[in-house]
Amino acid sequence: MDTLIELFERAQQGLFETLIGPLAFWLGAGNLMEEGFTAAGWLLVGLLQIAVMLLVIGPLQRLSPVEPVTDRRAVRVDVLYTLLHRLGLFKLLMFFSFEGWAIEGFGWLRVHGLPTLHIDQLWPGVTDQAAVSFVIYLVVFDLIGYWVHRWQHHAHWWWQLHAVHHSQRQMTMWTDNRNHLLDSVITDLVFVGAALLIGVAPTQFVALVALSQLMESLQHANLRWPWPRWAERLLVSPRFHRHHHAIALSHEPADAVPPQGEAAPSGGSEPRAAGSVGASFAAVPSQGEAAPSGGSEPRAAGSVGASFAAGPSQGEAAPSGGSEPRAAGSVGAPYGANYGILFPWWDMLFRSVSWGGGYAATGIDDQVRQGRDYGRGFWAQQWLGVGRLLGRR
Ligand SMILES: [Zn+2]
Ligand SMILES: [Zn+2]
Repeated sequence: MDTLIELFERAQQGLFETLIGPLAFWLGAGNLMEEGFTAAGWLLVGLLQIAVMLLVIGPLQRLSPVEPVTDRRAVRVDVLYTLLHRLGLFKLLMFFSFEGWAIEGFGWLRVHGLPTLHIDQLWPGVTDQAAVSFVIYLVVFDLIGYWVHRWQHHAHWWWQLHAVHHSQRQMTMWTDNRNHLLDSVITDLVFVGAALLIGVAPTQFVALVALSQLMESLQHANLRWPWPRWAERLLVSPRFHRHHHAIALSHEPADAVPPQGEAAPSGGSEPRAAGSVGASFAAVPSQGEAAPSGGSEPRAAGSVGASFAAGPSQGEAAPSGGSEPRAAGSVGAPYGANYGILFPWWDMLFRSVSWGGGYAATGIDDQVRQGRDYGRGFWAQQWLGVGRLLGRR
């Protein structure tokens, strides 16, 4: 471990001396050398992540894809988002704008009595060991991430931005960073604020974010990789997160109705339903089949509510149980399920978990059902997002 850290630091130093430092001088920012060194760390992390994606996750996707890649343009846009975020451009802009203000704001609050919650000092001798405090921070940040994500779905205005992330119908390992920039600004500020509040060391913060991001890339992968039951309950799997992205499970106003009888939008020939884990999920709109109940209340039996209600009893069919699909204690049902970032524990604890999903088609209900436009290219997605936020679209 120490050797790895040493290697990383040496590479960071090299990157700083050969690229970031000279660049900072050239831009007249020679006074920001410390920040430049941190930036070199972020850039290195991003390069490593992209290397792992290209060398490990990418080949896995080709080996065992959930669906064929038919929309390469949609994937290219996600690659753009990934490069923008992981190679530090977004962080750089944040640093010179909002983050700078946040840090100054926290400094001001400190002066006026805001305490730092030093989690690593809770139990001297134990929690201040690097490995222990790292795990604690990882869990604490993941809990914050869970609630942020849940509110991205529950708060109507926030969903208008988060919808950009869910509008990808050709989900791949690149999709993690596909977010509205304003959404990224908000979530970034929440995490930076939390880091300042609980006093996490910068190097640990970089490591935390790096690990989470890599896991998130894996979770978005177009990868059919069933995990054993215990593993899925320990960490968020690609299937678990894909279920979060399933059509008609993302935000879903109560009156949403699945598009019965429509052909699958992107999946084409591959019948996702066949033998997939959640029989209750067979009614996912894009399946191209009518919901089992078939009647005037298509949501009742097989769709979201039921699959959610049937959650824990994995893979059971829910066609008959559908008399009160939403009622059955399904806290998160109207706004989706499985918000967890790294650990599914929070979803289990706060009753928003759904184990029922297989490898369903991804997207947003009204996008599929009504052809609502969430934008194909980067700028269209950003522009339309602002429009939705302002209630214009
Ligand atoms: Zn989401
Ligand atoms: Zn996602």
